[in-house]
Formats: sequence, structure tokens, C-alpha cells
Amino acid sequence: MISVSEATQAILAHLHSPAVARVPIEKAIRNILAETIKADRDFPPFDRVTMDGIAIAFDQYQAGAREFAIEKIHAAGEPQVALDNPSNAIEVMTGAMLPEGTDTVIRYEDVIINDKRIASLRDIMITKGQSIHSKGQDARKDETLLEPGLKLSAAEIALLASVGKTQVAIVQGPKTAIIGSGDELVSVNDIPMIHQIRRSNTYALQAAMHDLNWAAGQYHLADNKEQLSMALKKLLDEHDVLILSGGVSKGKFDFIPAVLEELGVKKVFHEVSQRPGKPFWFGVKGSKRIFALPGNPVSTFMCFYRYIRPWFFRSLGVETKPEHAVLAKDFSFQPKLTYFLQVQVRNENGCLRAYPDQGGGSGDFANLKKIDGFLELPSEKTDFKAGDVFPFIPFRG
Ligand code: AMP
Ligand code: MG
Repeated sequence: MISVSEATQAILAHLHSPAVARVPIEKAIRNILAETIKADRDFPPFDRVTMDGIAIAFDQYQAGAREFAIEKIHAAGEPQVALDNPSNAIEVMTGAMLPEGTDTVIRYEDVIINDKRIASLRDIMITKGQSIHSKGQDARKDETLLEPGLKLSAAEIALLASVGKTQVAIVQGPKTAIIGSGDELVSVNDIPMIHQIRRSNTYALQAAMHDLNWAAGQYHLADNKEQLSMALKKLLDEHDVLILSGGVSKGKFDFIPAVLEELGVKKVFHEVSQRPGKPFWFGVKGSKRIFALPGNPVSTFMCFYRYIRPWFFRSLGVETKPEHAVLAKDFSFQPKLTYFLQVQVRNENGCLRAYPDQGGGSGDFANLKKIDGFLELPSEKTDFKAGDVFPFIPFRG
């Protein structure tokens, strides 16, 4: 049996190489950028007026001038104008090019304009260059604005629009199938008989993946070797990634590992020294990746967030920061294997503190609604002290 860190390394050694697609920027939000975006011109491209008001030459003000004859009105969207007489002013609107010969803008609120078109300053302090967004202040032409691997939010869509990108290159997630198995499991629409339960793991996985903008279809297969073999062969042919749940333990009807190997999937590992999730199986076939998770709902859930989510991000070139939390209460666990402790976390004085709330084990997925994630307690110890810091695997937000 391999350790959690060996399993992690083995999985990260088999990343998916994503294809790149071009999409209209209207559809690009939440996708991962696959190209470098540079400023096509200075940001802003000209000295931009940021207040409606008047533009003057500051040295006139410094020399004592408090009244300025208005020469003209200059709107946004007009080519640059120039001040004819340096002691005058030009009325300027937000977004306009600063007129030549001026270097300071005074907003309307701070001037009184009489019917002779003379602007008198109210009793206020003026500073040189005020209310001007200077050319190139935010970025210079050809400066890198966005790097590959970035998840696009509305803020980046605005930048893409402003550099004239109508289409943008994004990485495409692997074509993926989520496959449940188990004869005791009925559809969500069914009324289960006493010996049956409704399937929930594939829904949990699909929802967790949806959160990552990773689309995948759900399938359910019976605990029947021939049927499994036929269905899995087709699903393998049609997808880059299979995420299975159930049928990987030592039960008489846990056929998944054997069937996958018969279909030419090379086992990378089976069984990880962890709780929950010990029977976790991972294999590869060419460029295809097959994650077969133990069916216990908490196991499936934990394994997705601990192993598959980071694998997905790494495959797409997205950097993620591992999180940590402080154990808030002493906790002991035997035997020596990595224990994923269910915890609620609270931010206390800037420090994330983790309060154990274990529920009823790996089948008790109702307990997941009470917790925020898993604290990864290493296998080397059995007694863990309040105040110690451990990796934290969150699943909310
Ligand atoms: P298995 O890994 O197939 O031995 O399943 C372990 C336990 O998890 C059994 O009690 C199954 O009924 C349960 N289980 C497996 N798959 C699902 C699922 N999709 N939804 C809910 N429970 C499941
Ligand atoms: Mg089963």
C-alpha cells in the first residue's frame, strides 16, 4: 500500500495535456487563459480627463490667477484641442484628451462660471496635474497584462475587450465521464425500496466539477462484470478521463479494478494508506486517466478534493496555493495512516482554526453539510495537539 504523498506524486506525474480552444470573450468567463495578453497601446492611451470641469495651465494658478476665460468646450471622443491663450481655460469632459497647453483639471464643483463665460475658482487648494489619468500610468504598450493559467473573471474580460481581443485562447478541460456503480443504488427520481438507496456520489462529483467549470456527464453501471466491461470500454473510447465511484474494494462484486485492467488500463496504484478512501485505485491508458474512487460518499468526496481537483488545476496550468489550518482541539487517531479529519474552520484573529466534527464515518455524508473541509493529519503520529498546523483541504468557496 502506498502513502498519500506517493499517491499524490503518482497522480501528478500523469497530468492531462489540455487542448486549446478559441472562444468569443462573451463566453470566456471562468475559463483558464491559454495565451499571454499584452497591452496593444499605453493604458490609458492619452492623458485622460477624469472630471467634468475646466482645464488650465497650473503655472497661471501658481502666479495668482483665480479667474479664467473659457475658450471652448472639449468633449470626450473629440481629437485633442489646444489652449490659444495660456491664461484662459477650456471646459473639458470626463474621458476627453487633456488639451495641449493645460496640465491641471478643476472640477465643476470647485468653480463658478458666470454668464460672460468666466470661470472663478472657489476657495480651494489646487494641485498640479490633478484630475488627470496620465498616459501609460497603468501599463505601457507591449507590457504583459495577463499570463496563461489565469482564471478569467469579469475584470479580465474587460481587459481583453480593451486590447481588442474578440476571441481568446482558453484551455479545454478533459472530456470526462463520471461513473457510479452498485446494484443497491437507484435513480434520484425513484422511490427506493427498503434495501436500496438513491445515488448521490455522481451528483456530488458533477457539482464539484461544475464549480471548476469542468463539464462531465453522469453514468451508472450495474455490478455485473460483462455489462461493466462493455460499458466501460465504450466510455474509455469516448473520454480522456473517467472518474468512477464504487466497486473498488474487496467485495465479491467489486469488479472495477479487474475490468479496467482487462480493458488495457495500466494500474498505477490500488489502495492508499489513508482514511477514509483506502481502496482508491488509479490507472492510465495512453493519455487517458482513470480515477476509481471508493464508493463511500465521504471517501469519494474527500478523494476528489484531495487528489483530483489539484490534478485538474495542475493539468490546466493553474497555480494553486495549499491551505493550512490550526487544529483547535487535541485529537488522537490509531492506526498509523493519514487521517482526513472532518473539520469546521473559523477565522480567529487572522488564523484559520479547525474544529473536529467527525460525524459517523465515511458513510455519513449528511455530516458534510456541517463541515468546511478536511484536515490532513500525517501518518507518522497518532496524537495531534491543539495548536499544531496541518494541510487543510477546503470544499466551500
Ligand atoms: P462500494 O465502494 O461500492 O463498496 O460502496 C461503498 C458504500 O458506498 C456502499 O454502502 C454503497 O452503497 C455506497 N455508495 C456507492 N456509490 C454510491 C453513490 N453513488 N451514492 C451513494 N452511495 C454510494
Ligand atoms: Mg458497490
